[in-house]
Amino acid sequence: MTEPQFYIFVQAWMGLALLIFCINLFIKAPYGRHTSSKAGPMIDNRWGWIIMELPALVTVPILFVLGDAEKLPLSWFFLGLWCLHYIHRTLIFPFRIRTKGKKMPLAIVLSAIFFNLVNGYIIGTYLGNYATFSLDWIYNWYFILGLILFVVGMFINLQSDTILINLRKPGETGYKIPQGGFFKFVSCPNLFGEIVEWIGFALMTFGLPTASFALWTAANLIPRAKAHHEWYLEKFEDYPDRRRVIPFLF
Ligand code: NDP
Repeated sequence: MTEPQFYIFVQAWMGLALLIFCINLFIKAPYGRHTSSKAGPMIDNRWGWIIMELPALVTVPILFVLGDAEKLPLSWFFLGLWCLHYIHRTLIFPFRIRTKGKKMPLAIVLSAIFFNLVNGYIIGTYLGNYATFSLDWIYNWYFILGLILFVVGMFINLQSDTILINLRKPGETGYKIPQGGFFKFVSCPNLFGEIVEWIGFALMTFGLPTASFALWTAANLIPRAKAHHEWYLEKFEDYPDRRRVIPFLF
């Protein structure tokens, strides 16, 4: 793919994200609390997470190293942030969750592999071939703001996932009302944190390919948070008043 073709592909992929966002608002992704026996063959939940996130962890560093662009320190820094997130998501998070005996539909794993392969291709190709970040990039307002958002988003994501994981004693699989941290404001601060993190990454790099990834993250996670919030309201009569995913707004 030439560079202009690559950017046309990224724009088309962003268009698809908008379509998927609309579909996701009406059809819940059937994993976690929304798992359905109608979703076809199932695999172990923990293995599902490892297998479906692995393409994102592997493709980006490989394409980065193979790419033609000069590898300046800031490019390595951005690659490092990506790997930091995906080493945790692929190799640590699946061993922290308390989902003993739970299954995930194979269809979810396969669609996530596809999603991660395409996004990994886009980010790896961008950082490895088309993006060059000289050191004075760090003085741009968007680098500074993006870095702050990335760190804050990652903190909110990790803190909220930890609160959720600790709601269950080892061996338990049920659901409780989460309290504390950003749960004061929204039902799904872990998903909010993830969205903020990737908006931060997009700002820091100031590129269409990274904006595309932020858009895809929001297209998947805003509808999921909406579905979670509605599920909480149905399941718990005493559910507190909080927004779905964006504090004070939605
Ligand atoms: P959820 O909030 O649905 O679940 C997170 C974990 O906490 C699961 O193990 C879940 O168990 C458990 N849990 C959730 N709510 C409760 C509760 N009320 N009581 C007890 N346990 C609970 O998050 P996801 O599984 O959708 O996502 C996990 C992580 O992956 C998040 O950090 C998310 O941001 C990230 N992610 C990123 C995506 C992206 O596009 N970049 C896409 C999808 C996820 P159970 O599985 O049994 O429900």
